[in-house]
Amino acid sequence: MYTRDLFSAKRVVFSLEVFPPKKDTSVNVIYNTLLGLRGLPADFISVTYGAGGSIAQREKTCEIASLIRSTYHIEPVSHLTCVNSTREEVAQALDKLKENQICNILALRGDRTPGVEPKTDFPHASDLARFIREYDPSFNVLGACYPECHFESDSLEEDIEHLKIKIDSGVTHLITQLFFDNGCFYRFLEKARAMGIDVPIEAGIMPIVSKNQIERTVTMCGASVPHKLATIFSRYADNPAALRDAGIFYATEQIMDLLENGVQGIHLYTMNNVDTATRISRSIENIIAAKNA
Ligand code: FAD
Repeated sequence: MYTRDLFSAKRVVFSLEVFPPKKDTSVNVIYNTLLGLRGLPADFISVTYGAGGSIAQREKTCEIASLIRSTYHIEPVSHLTCVNSTREEVAQALDKLKENQICNILALRGDRTPGVEPKTDFPHASDLARFIREYDPSFNVLGACYPECHFESDSLEEDIEHLKIKIDSGVTHLITQLFFDNGCFYRFLEKARAMGIDVPIEAGIMPIVSKNQIERTVTMCGASVPHKLATIFSRYADNPAALRDAGIFYATEQIMDLLENGVQGIHLYTMNNVDTATRISRSIENIIAAKNA
């Protein structure tokens, strides 16, 4: 099923994101993750794609997406980046996805890898989206968006102008970068709608459940941290169990607020953490079901 069609069938779509293991030796980890996520009420599961990884590493995305489809009978979305790829390499990746009956692709530019000269065939994600649609119109193409502005854009308005090109290139559904302040998402949504972005937009939520995540994710992604979340970080940074509970509670409350304010979809960045994904999904599943009844 195309993800774009989920939005006509449901008032609220709920999806999960996983990533392939970095090392071959940890392949069982992803099997266990998928096994753990199997019973959750996800409309689709997306699988990230390592922009800077080797070809073999990148092919894992397709393998995992295929497994999600064949073994767990959940719709997969395969991420695909273009910053380090030629047209021929992208065409090969598309052929492989088609062979595996994967019809939803999240088209991304990807971040530039330090020390690696980016390839020039696809300067932006919109170029990739257009290429995919022209290569095989049976693919449904998703795209990324940034409620707090992508770091390379001078303003949110400029970023949304570029987002418009992405939509005009064939993207039918957007997923946001993670954010912790719902106010940022609401302001972005209002602006995007006013500027003519009319496709469904899913809100990307990442629960922060460990000290590592505070240091790596929060610092790197540049999302603003509301006072309440900053307090949680400082109060529980050295108490792993309490930090986990508080992080899950914060994300659940954030989702609840989004649902009550009419969000079209929630995309949970699971970080392959089954326990966290399960606790959050279970605490909102009846609310989502009630909205979709
Ligand atoms: P683009 O849409 O190309 O935007 C990048 C910058 O270029 C923006 O500032 C934009 O305003 C500008 N721009 C876009 N189009 C134009 C244009 N036509 N003219 C001028 N400027 C333009 N990374 C991975 O490596 N693997 C993943 O699996 C992955 N998954 C992600 C999933 C989500 C939901 C999100 C939000 C991000 C993900 N990323 C992933 C990170 C992403 O690749 C980076 O954020 C990257 O810096 C931008 O990718 P993009 O597709 O948004 O690029």
